[in-house]
Amino acid sequence: MHYHVLTLFPEMIEQAMSHSITGRAQKNEQIVLETTNIRDFSQNKFMKVDDYPYGGGAGMVMEAEPVYLSYEKVVKEVMAAGRKKPKVLFMSPQGKTFHQEMAIELAKEEDLVFLCGHYEGIDERVLEEIVDEQISIGDYVLTGGEIAAVVMMDAISRLVPGVLHNDVSAITDTFTDNLLEYPQYTRPVEWRGKRVPDVLMSGHHANIEKWRREQSLLRTKNQRPDLFEKVEFTKDDMKIMKKNLAFQDEI
Ligand code: SAM
Repeated sequence: MHYHVLTLFPEMIEQAMSHSITGRAQKNEQIVLETTNIRDFSQNKFMKVDDYPYGGGAGMVMEAEPVYLSYEKVVKEVMAAGRKKPKVLFMSPQGKTFHQEMAIELAKEEDLVFLCGHYEGIDERVLEEIVDEQISIGDYVLTGGEIAAVVMMDAISRLVPGVLHNDVSAITDTFTDNLLEYPQYTRPVEWRGKRVPDVLMSGHHANIEKWRREQSLLRTKNQRPDLFEKVEFTKDDMKIMKKNLAFQDEI
C-alpha cells in the first residue's frame, strides 16, 4: 500500500504515522508513506499558497495551481513506477462519512492519494479536476484535513495483509458483520474484586466462542441499536437469543 499525502503540514502526517503499528508497517515496507508539501509548488516568491475568497467572506482559500502541481507530481511518479493512476480522496466535512466498509475497500488499492485542505478549503476548480471521492471523518469541522487523513490511513493500514501480526483480530473487530466486539480481559484473573468470566479460563473453545458471540450481540443491541437492526442472525445466534431474556423483543 502506497499512501501519498498532499498537505501543507507534512510533519503532522509523518509524526503521527511513525509510531506503533503504522510505524512498524513502514519499516517492514508493508505500507509506504510519502508526503508532498503543497507549498513547494507555490507560484510566488513568498511561497504563499492561499488567497482571499472571491465574493468576500472569512478566511483564506488554497489556490488551485499548487494543489494541481503537487497532484501531477505524485501521479507521474506512480505511473512511472508501472502502477495505475491512483484514487484521489479529498478530506472534507462535506464528504461521505468514513466507515469500516470503506476502509476494507480502500485497503485493496495499491496507491491512495489523500488531499488535505486547510483554512477555508480549496479552490473548487481543482477539486472538480482531480478528486475521485470526498470523505469526511465525522460531522464536525477540523482545522485541516491532516488528522482526517491520518485517521483513514490508520484504519486502512490495519487491513493491509501482514500489518497486524494476528490477521484474525481484524476479522473479529467491531463493525465486522455489524457487530461490536465482545469484552476483552487480560491478567490478573482478579482485579480490585472483579473476576474475569470463568468461561474464558475454561479452555472450552466452543463455549468461549458462544459466550463471545452472545456478548457481541448484547453489546450491539444495547450500545448501537442502529447496527443491531442490520445484523444477519445465524441459526446459532437465534439459539443464543432464545435462551437470553435480554433478547425477548427480537424473538
Ligand atoms: N469551509 C469548509 C466547509 O465549511 O466545508 C471547512 C474548511 S475546514 C476549516 C479546512 C479543511 O479541514 C477542509 O478543507 C478539510 O480538508 C478538513 N476537514 C475539516 N473537517 C473535516 C472532516 N470532518 N473530515 C475530513 N476533513 C475535514
